[in-house]
This record gives sequence, C-alpha cells and structure tokens, in this order.
Amino acid sequence: MNTLLNKPSLIDPFGRTVDYLRLSVTDRCNFRCTYCMAEDMTFLPRQQILSLEELRDSAVAFVELGVQKIRLTGGEPLIRRDILKLVSSVAALSGLEELTMTTNGVYLPKMAQPLKDAGMSRVNISIDSLKPDRFKELTRVGELDQVMAGIDAAGAAQFKKIKLNAVILAGFNDDEVLDLARFAVDRGMDISFIEEMPLGEISSHKRVNTQITSSQIRQQLDSEFTLVDSAETTGGPSRYVSVANSQSKIGFISPMSNNFCESCNRVRMTAEGRLLLCLGNEHSLDLREILRAHPGDTALLKSKIVAAIANKPERHYFDPEQVDIVRFMNMTGG
Ligand code: SAM
Ligand code: SF4
Repeated sequence: MNTLLNKPSLIDPFGRTVDYLRLSVTDRCNFRCTYCMAEDMTFLPRQQILSLEELRDSAVAFVELGVQKIRLTGGEPLIRRDILKLVSSVAALSGLEELTMTTNGVYLPKMAQPLKDAGMSRVNISIDSLKPDRFKELTRVGELDQVMAGIDAAGAAQFKKIKLNAVILAGFNDDEVLDLARFAVDRGMDISFIEEMPLGEISSHKRVNTQITSSQIRQQLDSEFTLVDSAETTGGPSRYVSVANSQSKIGFISPMSNNFCESCNRVRMTAEGRLLLCLGNEHSLDLREILRAHPGDTALLKSKIVAAIANKPERHYFDPEQVDIVRFMNMTGG
C-alpha cells in the first residue's frame, strides 16, 4: 500500500512496482509462426481455459491492486469468442488507464472499429515481413494481404496509437528492417523490433543461428533515419527512440542482448490462469484454482496475488543455445 497517495500498489522484493498485466485470453491461434510455436501444437482443452467471467474477475483484482495498464494477448486474442464483451467490461474498470491488445491483425477488418468502440485505446499488430512468400513461410499459413487489410482497418478506426511488432531473425528477415521501418513511418505508426527468445522447442530453425541484437538493428536504421533518444519506457526490456520529422517512435525489445529487468513493471497471466511472475522463469501461481474454488471472492484473490508478487524473480537469464523454458510464447502471452 502506498500510504502517501493512499493508493494500493504491488511492490516486489526488489522495490519494483507492478502496474502492468498481460492477460492471455487463449493459447490458440490461426497462425503457426515458426519462432513462436511448434508446427503440430496441442492446445489446451477448453475447460482449462479461463472463462470470460474469470478473466474479468482477475482483471478487477489486479486493477484494485493498482494495475493501470492491461494488454490482452494470446495466442490470437481476436479468435476468442465474445472478446468484445471482455474488452468493454475491462475497459470500464475504474483505475485502469489503458487497455491494449497485441494481435496478428487478421480479424481487424471486422473487429477494429468495434474494439475501439468497446474502449480499447491502442493496438499492437505483428508483421515480420512485407513479402508475401516470406510472410507465409514465417507464419506457416498467414496471408500478408489480410494483415495489411487489418493494419488499414486499425488506421481507419483511429486508435490513440498503432504499433507494429517485428521479430527479426538473422538470415531470414533482417534485410527488411529498413522497409518495415519505412512502412511504419509512412503511416505515422510506431514499430518495435524484437529479439527472438528461446521459449519452447521449435523445429524450423536453430535459434542460436538467427540471433540478431537490437544494436545491430539500430545500426541499419541509423543509415537512413535520424533517431532521437527518448525518455519513454514501458518498463521491461524495451527502449524507444523518436524518428526525426515524423510522428513515429521505434522500439527495441532486447530480452537477449540487454537486460533491463531492473525496471520490469509487469506480470503475465496465461490463458489457463497461471500468474507468471517473469517471462523467463517458471515462478508462478495457479490463480484458476482460487477463481474456481472461491468464485467472486476478490479479497482472497487479491491477497494471493500480493503474496505471489513476493516471488517475482530479480531477472531472467536466456541462452539461445538452449531452451530452459519449455513453454511456447503462445502459452506465455506475449
Ligand atoms: N498472436 C498475437 C500476435 O502475434 O501479435 C499475440 C500473441 S504473440 C505471442 C505476441 C508477440 O510475441 C508477437 O509480436 C510475436 O511476434 C512475439 N513472439 C512470439 N514468439 C516469440 C519469441 N520466441 N521471441 C520473441 N517474440 C516472440
Ligand atoms: Fe500466433 Fe502470434 Fe504466435 Fe504468430 S506470434 S503463432 S500470430 S500467437
């Protein structure tokens, strides 16, 4: 409890305030991105996935504990049935400053405006290549023109900000860094370049061979853009720069090359209700058990969350040579 402001807050043993929740609404997806999933994924049985009510009750508890920002993610959040009901109920929570979503964009032509109307303030759209063949290879099934239509629909819905996400893999799409940045800047959108993390055992490539650092990506960008360092941070392993003479920012998400865990402000909740205290560690608490044994008991839920935060690890250690974390990113909630 922050007694000065009389506002509750979740503070971990390292003095970090947790005010950001990434809430995964499904582990399922219409894509099979090579770096995210195995080709023949087995998804969770439906009864193991939190219901919309359980997701909302969890959001209520976190917001009452001082969480100010919630990102809905997955898997692909827009394939969750009745997602708009969840969006409007969570967006209406008093104390929540921002509700956002990360999506692959395929369903945005239909969903962008309803999401905006339901209270979603920002969206992040993942796009790793502007070449249709390469895009299909990376996502195993994805059609680039559907994602492009989704980006256009998000633009038309006038979200507060649209950010593109691109995971860059050396030898695969690192020749598209400038094209992706130009694409974002031309549309007044932000873009984040993400280092690939070794989450889950994949068969398509050896992650140690596709590693590229944020500073190598930045070197490419410096050849064309004037990048101005920005004080903005969202906590966690990301840093932002502004692109001179544009409305765009470029983010570098560097979980491999640059450890910014000391400013981490977030926790994640998986689709099956596991509260993950760190992306790169297995410290967690089964909130589903509590939600199902004591439905509607927000006080109990809050006390368990507060106790869990005491176990938030100080930092992660990723080694691209090996997969220490067997959970895939779609299970984790990116
Ligand atoms: N399906 C949605 C999407 O792709 O935007 C949301 C979930 S996805 C897991 C969230 C983000 O995690 C995406 O931007 C994706 O590119 C990223 N991601 C997935 N696997 C990753 C990995 N192994 N390393 C780094 N980023 C990863
Ligand atoms: Fe699906 Fe997103 Fe993972 Fe790609 S990155 S497989 S779109 S969850």
